[in-house]
Amino acid sequence: MKFETVIGLEIHAQLATKSKMFCSCSNKFGSEPNTNICPICTGQPGVLPVTNKKAVELAIKTALALKCRIEPHSVFARKHYFYPDLPKDFQISQYELPLATGGYLEIEVDGQKRKIGITRVHLEEDAGKLVHVGAARIMGAEESLVDYNRTGTPLMEIVSEPDLRSPREAAVYTQTLANLLRYIMVCDAKMEEGSLRCDANLSIREVGNQEFGVKTEVKNMNSFKAIEKALLSEEKRHHEVIEEGGQIVQETRFFDDVTETTTGMRSKEFAHDYRYFPEPDLVPIEPPGEWIEEIKKTIGELPAQRRERFIKDYQLPPEMASLLIANKSMADYLEETVKLFPKATAAANWLTGDITAYMNENKKDFSQLNLTPAQLAEILRLIDDGTLSNKIAKTVLFTVLKTGKQVKDVIAESGLTQISNEDELKKIVQEVINNNPKQVEQFKAGKETVMMYLVGQVMKLSKGRANPALANKLLTELLK
Ligand code: ADP
Ligand code: ZN
Ligand code: MG
Repeated sequence: MKFETVIGLEIHAQLATKSKMFCSCSNKFGSEPNTNICPICTGQPGVLPVTNKKAVELAIKTALALKCRIEPHSVFARKHYFYPDLPKDFQISQYELPLATGGYLEIEVDGQKRKIGITRVHLEEDAGKLVHVGAARIMGAEESLVDYNRTGTPLMEIVSEPDLRSPREAAVYTQTLANLLRYIMVCDAKMEEGSLRCDANLSIREVGNQEFGVKTEVKNMNSFKAIEKALLSEEKRHHEVIEEGGQIVQETRFFDDVTETTTGMRSKEFAHDYRYFPEPDLVPIEPPGEWIEEIKKTIGELPAQRRERFIKDYQLPPEMASLLIANKSMADYLEETVKLFPKATAAANWLTGDITAYMNENKKDFSQLNLTPAQLAEILRLIDDGTLSNKIAKTVLFTVLKTGKQVKDVIAESGLTQISNEDELKKIVQEVINNNPKQVEQFKAGKETVMMYLVGQVMKLSKGRANPALANKLLTELLK
């Protein structure tokens, strides 16, 4: 039997607002535990929530970028369950009437483009955070601490259709979505910090079957790579169970990134377990058309459009364009550089190559870089007009990165410019001729390939500063 895999993702994104979803507490990450709290977000009796308009705006902005329909009337609902990180014993979410429905996100896997349906985008509040002492999860922990700072922070849930067909596609989808959220500045989308979280639903079915198989939901992946690994392991488990004649039970499973396997966490709860009902303390969201139009104008260029523009206007290879747009700061940096030095490919090569390597090694990002686009453009221009060889330019680049000095000063201090002056270079060429009588003889006897060796010697003696073309010309002249 041939099986195919079916995956749908529920992505939770923390919205980049100043305050929480229904109170004015700070939404800042990393504060001292239990300092950003108030009677509303800790669920004291008698308090009233008020919807954060900015959160609604950012969720609408996201829904528009995902080509969703903004619902004219959406409603908050109480979702009841008990857990120590949920002081009210219910989470305010949206259920039957979400903020937006029916969009899509285009992804590209191995050069193939696919549209992944978006079922809905809705708003909700986050729960608090439990810190388990002595174990990664509550099971096996000595004790658990609760931090209510995160309680009530604005979350947006983006639910995909079961359109994904492999763990790899699921990882690419999440990455593409994270990149989009960063571009439109609604969420910093850092999986490691938990500002983007993914619940992944997977099932398998026989190829040709119209009905889906029983799904399981996997949680606790904190990187794109982990999503792929978790789903690969879960996919394998589904195959094993079914091939042995067993049945998959619908449940929620926990991904352990040490063993890279999933284990059962709890049997799947059903909607009726949550006793959903409309939140009586909040008014429905009915966004006016003019407001939606205004929000639309703030979206700007999306990553996919930018990629197309880079390919078309800058003649960049598609893979290079993908690499660049995956990092918004890098793409911005390229555009700034290209304004000053129009050969984009050269700039892109340096950015995705040596500069990225330097940043990775030194754990820096573009905002901490000692090299401005103007300086990069200056170095590129000096290579272009023959003042610097590629090799020297690299030295100059790294010196600027390390010291933050001006390009001109670095070159002046180290005398690093390319030698393109005939008289100056002639001295070096003559020395090479004097030092290599054997090779000179071979050359004169007709072995022309020796020329390459001699040019190499000139480069070596000049510490890479000789203009290779000029060295070649002078050697030819002097050896006649
Ligand atoms: P639940 O009621 O269990 O939360 P939903 O219908 O709300 O399930 O779907 C949740 C997520 O699971 C969605 O992203 C959806 O695409 C995905 N999903 C639903 N059914 C399946 C299935 N059989 N296999 C894989 N994913 C599925
Ligand atoms: Zn509060
Ligand atoms: Mg659901």
